[in-house]
Formats: sequence, C-alpha cells, structure tokens
Amino acid sequence: MNLDDVLAIDQAHAWHPYTSTLDRDPVYPVRSARGCRIELMDGRTLIDGMASWWCAIHGYNHPVLNQAARDQLDRMAHVMFGGLTHEPAMRLVRSLVELTPEPLQHVFLCDSGSVAVEVAIKMALQFWISAGRPERHRLLTIRSGYHGDTFNAMSVCDPVTGMHHLFNRVLPEQIFAPAPSCRFGEPCTDADIAPFAELIERHRHELAAVILEPIVQGAGGMRFYSAEYLRQVRELCDRFDVLLIADEIATGFGRTGRLFACEHAGIAPDILTLGKALTGGYLTLAATLASRRVADGISSGEPGVFMHGPTFMGNPLACAIANTSIALLLSQDWAANILRLERGLTDGLAPCRGRSGVAEVRVLGGIGVVEMERPVPMREIQRRLVEAGVWVRPFGRLVYLMPPYVISDAELAQLCAAVAEVVSERSGF
Ligand code: PMP
Repeated sequence: MNLDDVLAIDQAHAWHPYTSTLDRDPVYPVRSARGCRIELMDGRTLIDGMASWWCAIHGYNHPVLNQAARDQLDRMAHVMFGGLTHEPAMRLVRSLVELTPEPLQHVFLCDSGSVAVEVAIKMALQFWISAGRPERHRLLTIRSGYHGDTFNAMSVCDPVTGMHHLFNRVLPEQIFAPAPSCRFGEPCTDADIAPFAELIERHRHELAAVILEPIVQGAGGMRFYSAEYLRQVRELCDRFDVLLIADEIATGFGRTGRLFACEHAGIAPDILTLGKALTGGYLTLAATLASRRVADGISSGEPGVFMHGPTFMGNPLACAIANTSIALLLSQDWAANILRLERGLTDGLAPCRGRSGVAEVRVLGGIGVVEMERPVPMREIQRRLVEAGVWVRPFGRLVYLMPPYVISDAELAQLCAAVAEVVSERSGF
C-alpha cells in the first residue's frame, strides 16, 4: 500500500485515540521502526521520545525480542487459559512474584492496563463481599490520577481532566483527596497528608480500597510526589483496614529509577497492576497481582471463585515476549542506564527553564516534563516537532519525554534540543 492509500483509508474509516471523525487530527504514516527511530512512509526518520506511551523500553524491532516471538510462534500463538496452563505464562507468573514485594503471591494475567485496573477493583470489591461486608464498595483516590478508559477505571481518574462530566450518570461515585502537594524528594508534613487522612477515616466503613499511581501521576498531569506521602498512605490503609491498590502500569519496569515505583517508599500494596512495558511494547498484556490475604479472602467466601476470565488470558506469545523483555532488562545495569537518561533529560531540557510560557521543567528517572503555562495547540506543536525530527505527543499543558531506554546520549540530546527549540519558538504557546 502506498502512502496515499494509507492516508485515504485512515481518513475515511480509522478512529484514532481521543479523536473526532469530523474534525480529524493529522496522522503520520509509519513504515517501520528500529531502535529509537520511527521511519515515516514519506522517508523522514524521527527520534522517538514516547516509547509508544511508555511501553517500548527496549526500542523497536529488537532482535532478541523478535526471536522470542518467532520461537514461541512455532510452538503456539495461543491456547485458552481455562483448564490449561503453559510454560511461558508460568515463567512470567514466577518472575512477577519474585520481582514484586513478598505479600503479592497470586498473578491474574489479562489483556490491557485498563482491564488490569478493572480486575484490581473487582478483586477489592469481591474481597469485601466474601468477608460479609458488601457495603465496603467505594474507592478513595487522589486527584490528578489516571487509571484507564473503562468505566471503573474512569471513575478513579481525575474528576476534572477525566471524563466524569460526560458519564456522571453511570460512573460509580468515588472519593477524591487532593493531589499530593509534597513533591518527590521532599518530606510529607502533617498538613500534606491531612486531607487524605481525614477522608480515609471518615469513609472507612464504606471503603473497599485506595487506588493510586505510586510516585508518578502519569496521564493525569505528570506529577512526581513525595515517597513519604505514599508511606503514610500505606500506614493509613493499615490503620483503617482498607486495601491499597498500586497502579504501576506506567511506572513499572524501571521508568522512575526503581524497578517498581513503590520501592521509593519501601511499601507493598495489597493489589498491584502492571502493563505497558511488561512486553517491552510488543503485545498487549497486563497483570494484576494480589496478596495471599486478598486471594484467599475472595476464594473462601461466596461464590468462592474470582469472577473474571478474558479470552486471551495468559496469551503464550505475549508471555514469551514478556519473559524475554524482563530478562533483557535485568541482564543490564538498567538502574545506571536510567540515571544516564535522568542526567540527559535534566541537561537537555535545562534551556527550557525560565523560557516565556514555560511554567516548570521536572525530571525523574526516564521521564522529562516541560509544563507550559497554557495548553499547547496540539496539531501545530506536533507538526513542528515532526519537522524538527522527533516524535513527541504533548497533551494539555504538558510536553513530556519518556524515550526508550536504549536511546543514545546523542539522540537524547537531539530530542531535548528539538523540544527546547519548538517550545521556545512561540512564547506563550
Ligand atoms: N493505568 C495507568 C497508570 C496508565 O498510565 C494507563 C495507560 N496510560 C492505564 C492504566 C491504562 O492502560 P491501557 O491504556 O493499556 O488500558
């Protein structure tokens, strides 16, 4: 198919994320991708600053991951997980249990991040139903969060930037504490935790769980908050016997400088969601891990089973690639590499600081954020970034970078320079 055919079909029939079919955003047809580079069908090559929404940590077209896919294809692409089991899934289950905190012993494999969040919420609700406490059915979360686009996941996304106003008639009503005011690296004072502490105490009799993204709030605002805040949330959950769900779909597998962001605070959640980088960005796969207490609690009540079972659960092809991606990550000094990215992003984005229109520049691990004072005109800034040779997809007031871990120093410098140039081109974007 040539470039024009792809664009014509796209224009006529394809529906892209968060887009209108009437007023269409421009799209850029891709021919292939390798390492940190995306090759467009028009011959241009872009340095990737997005890792395809946090997932392609090893870059694209990685020979080791490609080989893992081929090897597994020759055995089986898929078999159902009801009543059957297999080595790729068992290898993955074992390594997720080994890599995550000790209380998490049971792994539920599912299709995508949003589904993993649905599963996590369902686990929390079913835990309390089994315990004879069905009134404990609500969730407490913090503002500026993002947990996915399915209904329960939407209900715990930020109520302003999320889709609450659209779906308020059908969304379960959850409880929202203010977003943490204490930043990463700072202490958490009594005043910082007080609003959360007050809400968990007030609602403890109806709360099933607290759900939050540990340390980094991603798509809800790219905010980095104090590890001490997270530690105090864990303590409050213990004090009021509320389950804690940590959504590490975006932060898992090293992005924040720790393998899992909960490690910054040294805490273990009762339920953990993983996705995105799990397969190194090759296939959609996610996992919800539960503590023995949660799993046994669900299993010992009525109906005595956990009521979920997706068709593609434990997909062998995705699991085989996930195993290889995890092994590849752990075979390197990944922590030193993330520090390298942190330094590169800090240096590279420094010129944006103090530019007119820029509210703040912040970096943590492999995440660099340029927060503007006003929302950026997406189509225009996207076009300019592509012209500057980089793939970056800003949203709202945020121009942010999360490159594949394999990005070279030179590519990272080029990526940051392009962002700095485009951001400063038009003061007051
Ligand atoms: N939770 C978090 C923290 C996320 O960042 C995302 C995706 N951006 C999701 C859940 C939803 O994952 P998915 O898009 O795979 O459904």
